[in-house]
Order: sequence, then structure tokens, then C-alpha cells
Amino acid sequence: MKCPKCNCDTLSEDLYCHNCHTKFVRSYPAQPYPTYQTPPPAKKASNGMAIAGFILSFFFPLFGLIFGCIGNSRANNGASGKGLSVAAIIISIVSMICNFFFIVGFLKAFLPYLFLY
Ligand SMILES: [Zn+2]
Repeated sequence: MKCPKCNCDTLSEDLYCHNCHTKFVRSYPAQPYPTYQTPPPAKKASNGMAIAGFILSFFFPLFGLIFGCIGNSRANNGASGKGLSVAAIIISIVSMICNFFFIVGFLKAFLPYLFLY
């Protein structure tokens, strides 16, 4: 601590200068009682792509897969919806496989009749 009057380094903890005996009012920081406010949690960017992908994956697997992939890459960059985007991708793939077998099965069942008659 330096004395504001004589600029010596002999200021004691009792707030007076050993050199010039000037009483010194210690200047406290602006906030005498430091408030330890927890900063608001960093709000994660909402990930609409993951939500859209999740919904679309049930009805339009191809779009669900695309949106899910976009949502997943956004989630990797710190956005929310990591689980949702992964679910969208998985549901899309499963849905596409189901559709594929459904169409193949449909064609196998009905194509012969189309060619017979
Ligand atoms: Zn002094």
C-alpha cells in the first residue's frame, strides 16, 4: 500500500502512514460486499433441425434423415437436441428399411398377377 500524501510504502494495516502519520481512508472496490452471482447458464441454441428431423422421420424418412444429420452436426457444435437428432437418424433409417421391404413385398405379392392377367 502506498500513502496517497507522501507516496511512501509504509502504510500500515491500521490505515495511517508510518512516515507522515496521515490517516488514510482505504478505498474499497465499488462493491463492498462482493455478490457471487452465478452467471446465467449459457443458453444452448435451440435445435429446430433435430426436432424437425425427429418429426419428419416418422412420415418422410428421407427428409427426417437429412434434417437429423443437420441437427446432429449442429448438436456437435454445442446446440441442444443431440439425442433427438440421433433418434431422427435412426428412425429414418429403420423407416426406410421398413418401407423398402414393404414395397418389395408388395411388388412380389402383386406383380405376378399383373403379368398373368
Ligand atoms: Zn505518508
